[in-house]
Amino acid sequence: MTSIPTILDIYTAQRRTSGIIKHTPLLSSTLIDRKLPDASLRFKAENLQRTGSFKIRGAFNKVTEILAQNPVGIVTASSGNHGQAVAWAGKHYQMPVHIVVPETAPASKVLASQGYGATVEYCGTTSLERIERAQSLAHQNNWVYIPPFDDPQIIAGQGTIGLEILADWPEVHSVLVPIGGGGLISGIAIAIKSLRPDITLIGVEPIGAAKAWESRRQGHRITLNQSHSIADGLKTSQIGELNDLCISTYVDEIHTVTEAEIIEAFWLMTSRLKAVIEPSGAAAAAFAFSHPDRFTGQNVVAIISGGNVGRGTFSL
Ligand SMILES: *Cc1c(COP(=O)(O)O)cnc(C)c1O
Repeated sequence: MTSIPTILDIYTAQRRTSGIIKHTPLLSSTLIDRKLPDASLRFKAENLQRTGSFKIRGAFNKVTEILAQNPVGIVTASSGNHGQAVAWAGKHYQMPVHIVVPETAPASKVLASQGYGATVEYCGTTSLERIERAQSLAHQNNWVYIPPFDDPQIIAGQGTIGLEILADWPEVHSVLVPIGGGGLISGIAIAIKSLRPDITLIGVEPIGAAKAWESRRQGHRITLNQSHSIADGLKTSQIGELNDLCISTYVDEIHTVTEAEIIEAFWLMTSRLKAVIEPSGAAAAAFAFSHPDRFTGQNVVAIISGGNVGRGTFSL
């Protein structure tokens, strides 16, 4: 099995992606601060990242790394943001990109991938069906499959967020990260814990998609029979194998938030930060808003993981 990436892999990713990836700001709001009067809360604004989510960090790092193999094309399976990121990276390197999405994929995300020139194919509704299809296409056509989270180069790319947080706010005490398949939290946790083991890493999942939380409780990696949440980026039914290892090693706490808490945080952040965010991007902050006492006296960063929101979300 592949081993956990190290801080050196994350530095390499940072070098590879510099000039492409934006160093996103830490946002704050005095009105939001009143919700957590005894803490200082800042938001890592990956909604302002190129392609509208952090996913470009890992995807660009991975696609750059495989250039050495002279790929004739790349393929991935994604319900949205990862697909857009891979499409962007493929276009940058003038490589054909094929993306397998679920029949339920939000139209806004599919259109964005097509806008970057990718071919989009609909297949089933589960991630297992899509991944199988993408991998068999890779095999048939000699394309390279770009996994969404269970990959050392993807994890290392997402880890560059951790380096930026430490550079911008070394006084931080706790970092809140949403968990889908676990690529984002794996990278951030490796970066931060390698350099600053005193900082607390907290993963947050919707209660209807609590795969990492349940895995920790049971002591082994589990697969959910079903998952549901308005936070479509977090609905994965299983964390990745490598991600499971990273999370077990580096993540201090995993918590769940309810749909109502996510929606409340979504509106609070939309109205107070004047930020366009997607529900998945509100989940980490939702935990802080509903547990203000947990963060007394602390400097806290919550990751806003993306801003690719469909029109439907605004009718919540
Ligand atoms: C992919 C994604 C996540 C989850 O990231 P993982 O690496 O799968 O854990 C969270 N938020 C948004 C907006 C995403 O696109």
